[in-house]
Amino acid sequence: MRPKALDGRALAASLLGLAHRTARRARRRLGRAPRLAVVAASGGDAESYLKAKRRACEKAGVELIVHRLSPGPRAKTVGLLAELAGDAGVDAVMVETPLPRGLHAADVAVAVPEAKDAEGVTPGRYGRLFLSKTWAEAHELVAPCTASALARLAQHAGAKPGWNALVIGRSATVGRPAAHMLSTMDLTVTVAHRRTRRLPELCRRADLLVVAAGKAGLVKPSWLKKGAVLLDAGIHARGKRIVGDADPACAGRAKWYTPVPGGVGPVTTAVAVLQAARLALARK
Ligand code: NAP
Repeated sequence: MRPKALDGRALAASLLGLAHRTARRARRRLGRAPRLAVVAASGGDAESYLKAKRRACEKAGVELIVHRLSPGPRAKTVGLLAELAGDAGVDAVMVETPLPRGLHAADVAVAVPEAKDAEGVTPGRYGRLFLSKTWAEAHELVAPCTASALARLAQHAGAKPGWNALVIGRSATVGRPAAHMLSTMDLTVTVAHRRTRRLPELCRRADLLVVAAGKAGLVKPSWLKKGAVLLDAGIHARGKRIVGDADPACAGRAKWYTPVPGGVGPVTTAVAVLQAARLALARK
């Protein structure tokens, strides 16, 4: 068995093709290109995400408007979100992580209207995702982008009903929705967190291992079942290199694995742009 890298860039390109077709239909209806507003903290990690988003929007024919926020009172950020909510020229809104200082995920969920929620974090959209039982119901919903990217990559890697999946991480926007989406694909899903005992043993039982822990190199090669699928959401800058949450040597034991960079990241960006185009097309 030779391990194969899951080409996130190729899957992203096909999602952006779909986004392009959706954006073209939206443009015909609106008389202008779909418009995605992204709010991001100034400086820091957000810069590389924004660069990727800019390129993806260009490919899809979606106009990107970026609002950079220097550290300031939370009310200012919430006020900006309220302005974007009321701006008829904006079809979709996202807040880039890491969130601007002082802003909480719950603020975003409340300040952004459901109709413009490109990340699936408003109560209505999030609830709809968790009410879905099958992949047929779940896959076209506007959902948290990284979770959706992980589910799409699992499908791409040939994940089968009945497989044991382990998701390390239970955040509201990555681990938990990814686990739910995998369960809609009829995988048997376990969710691990910091208090989980015997994590290596649980990993060794997993046919599909999703790592979204935010801890570089957490998963060791000896933890991985031979021939498993490994999806690594982690992104950590180490000098000029970017590493994931799994030790890079894990790839040698996997049947399929997501490279870092070039795996989950580009698919996440493409999902975000596709969801923005869909919101523009759905404008009343
Ligand atoms: P987060 O909110 O910090 O959540 C991390 C989760 O991992 C928590 O549930 C935490 O458990 C768990 N965890 C941390 N250390 C652990 C350990 N040693 N053993 C078991 N579980 C552990 O992070 P996030 O926002 O979900 O992001 C997760 C990763 O995905 C990060 O590396 C982030 O950079 C990356 N990410 C990538 C993309 C992309 O586009 N590729 C997008 C978003 C995020 P507790 O709940 O017990 O604290």
